[in-house]
Amino acid sequence: MSLRIVLLGAPGAGKGTQAKRIAAKYDIPHISTGDIFRKHLKEGTELGKQVQQYLDSGGLVPDDLTCAIVADRIAEPDCANGYILDGFPRSQTQAERLQEILNERGEAIDIAIDIEVPDEEIIERLSARRSCGTCGEVYNLKFDPPKGDGKTCEKTDCPGELIQRTDDKPETIRQRLNVYHETTKPVRSFYESLGLLKTVSGADSTPDDVYKAIEAILDGVRTA
Ligand code: AMP
Repeated sequence: MSLRIVLLGAPGAGKGTQAKRIAAKYDIPHISTGDIFRKHLKEGTELGKQVQQYLDSGGLVPDDLTCAIVADRIAEPDCANGYILDGFPRSQTQAERLQEILNERGEAIDIAIDIEVPDEEIIERLSARRSCGTCGEVYNLKFDPPKGDGKTCEKTDCPGELIQRTDDKPETIRQRLNVYHETTKPVRSFYESLGLLKTVSGADSTPDDVYKAIEAILDGVRTA
C-alpha cells in the first residue's frame, strides 16, 4: 500500500523531527524542500546560488522553481510507494501545482497533517535550535539539549560542531512567521476542502506525544 503525506505547520513546529520518524516507520522517503535547498547552498551549485537570497531573507523560493524540484524528486523510483513532504507545499499555487503533478501521474495525496504551535512558542524554539554542521542532526538548547559541552554533535562517530541556521536569527524568524501566516496558512484550507486535513497540537507537547498522535492518524489511513 502506498502512503503520500503532506506535513504542514509553521517553521519550528517540529515537521522535520516528525517526518524523519514517520519516514523510518513507514519506509518512505522524507522529502524536505528546505533540506534540498540547503544542500545545494552548501555545495555551491547553480541552484544553490539561485535560492540563497530567499533562504537568507526568510522569503519563499519562487513557486516554479520549487515545484519543478519536487516534481523531479517524486518521479524517482524510491517514491513509488509514497513519501512524506516536509515544507512543501507552502503556498496555494504550490498546492494546486502538486495536485496537477499528481493527477498527471495517476497519484494522490492520502493525508495532510498540520502540526499547530502558537507563534510565541515557535520563536522560543527556533531561537534555541542548533544543528550539526556535519550530519545535520537537530538539537534544541532548551528543549532537547545536547549532552557534553553543548557545542559538538553527540551522535556516535560524528565530530561535527553545532551551528545555528542563519535563518533562525530573530529578525529572520519574524519574517518567516509573517510569510507563514500570509502565504502558507491558506494551504491548510486547501486540504481541508479536499477532506484530507487532520490537525495535531504541537503546543506544550513532547516530540513523542506529537509522534503518537500522528501515528494514530496514519494507522487509521492505512486501514481505511
Ligand atoms: P525550512 O527548512 O523548511 O524551514 O525551509 C528553509 C527555507 O527554504 C525557507 O525559509 C524558504 O526560503 C525555502 N523553502 C523551503 N521550502 C520551500 C517551499 N516549499 N517554497 C518556497 N521556499 C521554500
